[in-house]
Amino acid sequence: MADRKRVLSGMRPTGRLHLGNLHGALENWIRLQDQYECFYFVADWHALTTDYASPGNIGENSREMVLDWLSAGLDPRRSTIFVQSQIKEHAELYLLLAMITPLAWLERNPTYKEQQQQLEHKDLGTYGFLGYPVLQAADIIIYRANGVPVGKDQLPHIELTREIARRFNYLYKSEIFPEPDGLLTEAPVLPGLDGRKMSKSYGNCIFITDSGKDIAEKISRMMTDPQRVRRNDPGNPEVCPVFAYHKLYSSASEIEEIAHGCRSAGIGCVECKKILIRNVAARLAPVRERRAKFESDPDGLRDIIAAGNARAAREASATMELVRRAIGI
Ligand code: SF4
Repeated sequence: MADRKRVLSGMRPTGRLHLGNLHGALENWIRLQDQYECFYFVADWHALTTDYASPGNIGENSREMVLDWLSAGLDPRRSTIFVQSQIKEHAELYLLLAMITPLAWLERNPTYKEQQQQLEHKDLGTYGFLGYPVLQAADIIIYRANGVPVGKDQLPHIELTREIARRFNYLYKSEIFPEPDGLLTEAPVLPGLDGRKMSKSYGNCIFITDSGKDIAEKISRMMTDPQRVRRNDPGNPEVCPVFAYHKLYSSASEIEEIAHGCRSAGIGCVECKKILIRNVAARLAPVRERRAKFESDPDGLRDIIAAGNARAAREASATMELVRRAIGI
């Protein structure tokens, strides 16, 4: 383990995960376990940066999310799985980094203004919201991570983390913090049932632990090529959300047959969806089985999280020793 590079990533606790989360991030996390020493955390403090006024049940959502991580295949023997708010050193480092981070660096953060506009029904003119990239930097560098798996849109945040790490090292003449790299991953974008982005707020999700019955019911009402009104109309699979799923869940020969059958009106949408229902249900069956196993053993789940927290705390506290010494406090 010691010679492996370290990666770290977190997710806000949104409760049950959907297929967008699975293919967009989680599958990549699972793959990274083969190559890196992995730290994965529930970003529960981050949830408060936008949802401070209505936090809901963050504790329960965190537990549900970890259950889904494990069900999908994260392996607690190979990954350190922990909860951000349980490692108080994140808050200490966040405070110290806040002292050295120029305000202009935060104000130029492209997602700051964008998100304020997108979430205009919330008052995001808060200190915590402006400063969340500093908390993110603390989350990453406290484990002296070498890499962070990200999508393209998050690269500016990694750049900011690198700048903050560099500034700390320069100001306090230390080499405590490596500058982490963004590990760019091309993740397939899976549309929701209505063709829009899959999101809980749109109510268009298939959850990774949905039952076979739920999967069948949801895919049956999924949007198809809107131009294909009658069975005899030829369709265009490339504009059809169902086909986007086939690309991920069906075999190469099925994909070819469906694409051809759709274009020539040789296959109907009902039949096409039946094939998809069968394939999605088969792929998610082991995830549901693992979930049932973890759910039947709440003590085991508690132990996994406690062990992850303990391991993360050891690493974080060792870093903070060095940080305090470098600053001289
Ligand atoms: S046949 Fe399949 S791919 Fe073609 S429009 Fe219908 S559901 Fe979509």
